[in-house]
Amino acid sequence: MSDEISFPKGELMKGKRGLVMGVANKNSIAWSIAQQLHAQGAEIAFTYLNEAMERRVRPLAESLGAKLILECDVLSDASMDAAFAAVKEAWGTIDFLVHAIAFTDKSALEGSFVANTTRAIFKDTMDVSAFSFVDAANRASKMMPNGGSMVTLTYLGSERTIPNYNVMGVAKAALEASTRYIARDLGPQQIRVNAISAGPIRTLAAAGISSGRHMFSFNRKASPLQDDTDPMGVAGAALYLLSDLGLSCTGETLHVDAGFHIVGMPDEAALKE
Ligand code: NAD
Repeated sequence: MSDEISFPKGELMKGKRGLVMGVANKNSIAWSIAQQLHAQGAEIAFTYLNEAMERRVRPLAESLGAKLILECDVLSDASMDAAFAAVKEAWGTIDFLVHAIAFTDKSALEGSFVANTTRAIFKDTMDVSAFSFVDAANRASKMMPNGGSMVTLTYLGSERTIPNYNVMGVAKAALEASTRYIARDLGPQQIRVNAISAGPIRTLAAAGISSGRHMFSFNRKASPLQDDTDPMGVAGAALYLLSDLGLSCTGETLHVDAGFHIVGMPDEAALKE
């Protein structure tokens, strides 16, 4: 799993500081990204959702030498205020932001989208999974006087219908559109803003989707690389976008999914379970 991945060391992020939001455990995509950034010399502050998450996140963050490990529920303005104020007080400025946060009610991740999406579920899903990036990007941009880079995580369910992904696909569409608008607004400040569209990866969030097993095996069989999406590839893409390697790239949604998104019709073999 991702904690056993050996990330190549280097200095691409040397002298850069930033905030990683969305580590829940060692399988989290944000954790793979954090390890990659750390291996390239970045100094990282982490946020975690609540006390229950802190037990897992704190030891991971400390293993990368993190000093700023902060509680932050993106649904709470007070919690966002406190977390960003703590980063500002400690560091003054930051160079990057990683947003890897999404949530919806489990009942919305199965069956009929049109029948199972209540007003409350629609609003809450959008709030946690799309608006939180707008909010975090706005706050982070105020700490980026010398420019910077931001990355969020999305999934193909924004562009195509995927069984059971439902309201989360709609939230991801809003997240990707938000990425483009944020990129436009913050471009003049030399802040680049991009999304990574990752293929299925076994995490806590992915476990909530009904028929997840089918999703993984179909992706593997139908994708050009005929393999799962490797979290290391996602972390590598994040390193590209967050480091100076990504110069001139903004407003982009970069697919890291073994090529699944380019397939119009899979080979017959992919249709056999
Ligand atoms: P994960 O469960 O490890 O991470 C999701 C994170 O969201 C957790 O850390 C959780 O605490 C946090 N979160 C949920 N509600 C929150 C709130 N109110 N305030 C603050 N944090 C909150 O799963 P993951 O798969 O690593 O997910 C990270 C991102 O990657 C998500 O946006 C997800 O949609 C996206 N993504 C995942 C996959 C996949 O297959 N796993 C594929 C493409 C995109």
